Amino acid sequence: MAAALAPPALARARSLARASAAAVLDLLMPPACAACKAPVATPHGLCAACFASLPHLPHPACGRCGVPLRPEGAGEEICLPCRDAPPPFASALAPFAHAGTARTLVVRLKAGREELAPLMARMMLAAGPLPERALVIPVPLHRWRLVQRGANQAALLAGALAQASGLVHAPELLVRTRPTPPSRGLGRAARQANVAGAFAVPEAGRARLQGRAVVLVDDVLTTGATAGACAGALRAAGASAVHVRTFTRVAREAAQP
Ligand SMILES: [Zn+2]
Ligand SMILES: [Zn+2]
Repeated sequence: MAAALAPPALARARSLARASAAAVLDLLMPPACAACKAPVATPHGLCAACFASLPHLPHPACGRCGVPLRPEGAGEEICLPCRDAPPPFASALAPFAHAGTARTLVVRLKAGREELAPLMARMMLAAGPLPERALVIPVPLHRWRLVQRGANQAALLAGALAQASGLVHAPELLVRTRPTPPSRGLGRAARQANVAGAFAVPEAGRARLQGRAVVLVDDVLTTGATAGACAGALRAAGASAVHVRTFTRVAREAAQP
């Protein structure tokens, strides 16, 4: 058991060391914009120009998968692919497209700028209300990858989103049972095969999950394959509904070959 606990403990130690180094730097340096580094009044915020340049997703969007609907589809609430084959999640919302300033923030968070998570979580919360009493669960990393990375950016966002919304953060309720190869460049079907059966709810967590709504958190939604595999595992283990919340989403045209 000690061996099983060691990697997350190591990851926490690394992340603490990085966080305190960042805190020391904050005391020495004037606050800078989280995206372009221009001087700003408060730390870990955006300057006015970067805030104005955030790539908001166009409306209307599919009520199920969140993909922007074409103007000629206005009046429809669900996109055609979702009507043909509804995804295992109830909704998928992101405030921004995966581009420009929003993409910069995702890249910085992944690179270890953990102090950006509260700012990003507040913007995710502004994109739409979260279900009451929901459990907030991040898309998990495999523990070997957690050791390499030091922190899971999805868990940083999930923790900050739970704090901002008053919901319970429950990262222990979903695990990645095998490391999955990077899916960059793969199309939707290949990504689905890549993550099939890769997520599970630990036996000990099943009772807590029964009948509860889940807010599943990740930094980026690409094809929805990972979110779908997570949502499938959570629903099969007793969750009543899974609502996906990410900071950005990749446009469907770009996500599919
Ligand atoms: Zn800026
Ligand atoms: Zn849809």
